Amino acid sequence: MVDVAGKRVVVMGLGRFGGGVGVTRWLCGQGASVCVTDLADETTLADSVGALDGCDVRLRLGGHDEADLDETDLVVVSPAVDKRRSSFFQTVVERRINWTTEINLFLERCPAKVVGVTGSFGKSTTAAMVAHVLTSGWRGGAVHLGGNIGRSLLGEVETMTGTDVVVLELSSFQLEDIVRIERRPDVGAILNVVPHHLERHGTFDAYRGCKLNMVTRDEPGMPVVLGSRDASLAEMVGALRCRVVDGAASSRVGALVVPGAHNWANAQVAAETCALCGVEDAIIARELATFPGLEHRLQFVAEVGGARYFNDSKATSLAATTAALAAFEERVVLLLGGRRGDEDVGAWVSTIPSSVRELIVFGDVRSDGSLFAAGDIPVHTVTSVTDAAREARALARPGDVVLFSPGFQSYDAYVNYESRGEDFIRVVRSFCR
Ligand code: ADP
Repeated sequence: MVDVAGKRVVVMGLGRFGGGVGVTRWLCGQGASVCVTDLADETTLADSVGALDGCDVRLRLGGHDEADLDETDLVVVSPAVDKRRSSFFQTVVERRINWTTEINLFLERCPAKVVGVTGSFGKSTTAAMVAHVLTSGWRGGAVHLGGNIGRSLLGEVETMTGTDVVVLELSSFQLEDIVRIERRPDVGAILNVVPHHLERHGTFDAYRGCKLNMVTRDEPGMPVVLGSRDASLAEMVGALRCRVVDGAASSRVGALVVPGAHNWANAQVAAETCALCGVEDAIIARELATFPGLEHRLQFVAEVGGARYFNDSKATSLAATTAALAAFEERVVLLLGGRRGDEDVGAWVSTIPSSVRELIVFGDVRSDGSLFAAGDIPVHTVTSVTDAAREARALARPGDVVLFSPGFQSYDAYVNYESRGEDFIRVVRSFCR
């Protein structure tokens, strides 16, 4: 186990999602002398810098300086750092400085049972479902939810006990370096593995390898729930001497508030995972039925004039929008927009289901309005999310679903998808007054 007390530590990557802040605060509490460095500047990182209030740390923002590595004992590398491409990280390796990650620091110290949840899509939803069920059904101590879902659990690790349970959402980036330590989750759930983040991992094999890192253990028999009927994945997990549980065959789910086949699949995986944690079937079914959904992921916002409005701002790719559309059989008014990336919009438009009756395009991508017009669906281009919501209200009929599932990144007008979703919710709620 890496010792941090009294050590000189560089945190590489403060970030905006809580992990960097969590590990920095924890390191300070452990008596380490900490320098935090990030390529992003102080303005971009204002919220995270604010969250370090009261911590005695040195900040090196807006770029790295190799001088900060002089006499450093340990570097904690953020999962967001593309290690192959970072010259600062290469220097860490060349100088043979010890390095680790926030997740590894946590896992090495965690006395509780750990449930690891990974996959290409549905990680946060499923991890939250598992934690929701365990909160009623876990027969031991406290239930903790963290990891990629946006919360570092390091701050709680000292008070955790062996009877607690931790639900850890793990991304491929977080799993990349888990092989540097012995500890793995006690129970695993892999929802699905499809090509994703290849700009970082290089190949699908490398990406899938990161996911599989979660279930490589010395002792055989780790129970692993698989969410998709993916024979090659099942074979690979089996070859790692895991006990494979077919989540897609689960009959423990009764009813759900959250819409869509993908949420049903997520709930099946959550149900099997909770059963492996000893939760009774009746509690699993009851608690899944009341799971309200996560913010910004097909979140029900309000009913206005007989139409139901859903906020799915987390859909920052067209594939996620496709998954969201598959959740509804009703007529849909679809709100799409954001920052243009390199997606093949023309090809995607031809896959839009016939349930979509109106398409409202907002933000930067509206300049590509002609691409969206390839199908028969009426396309309305507007500037902002506010205008898009107002246009939707004018177009929606009773019984319709108004779906804000943008399909593009939010950075044309927002700092993140959360603030974009909050903007949509605010406008929709104003219709109810
Ligand atoms: P992750 O944490 O893996 O990014 P989330 O649970 O936050 O996944 O969901 C992100 C997006 O992916 C949502 O827009 C949702 O509609 C879609 N999604 C959720 N679960 C699945 C699934 N099992 N398969 C495909 N898409 C999904």
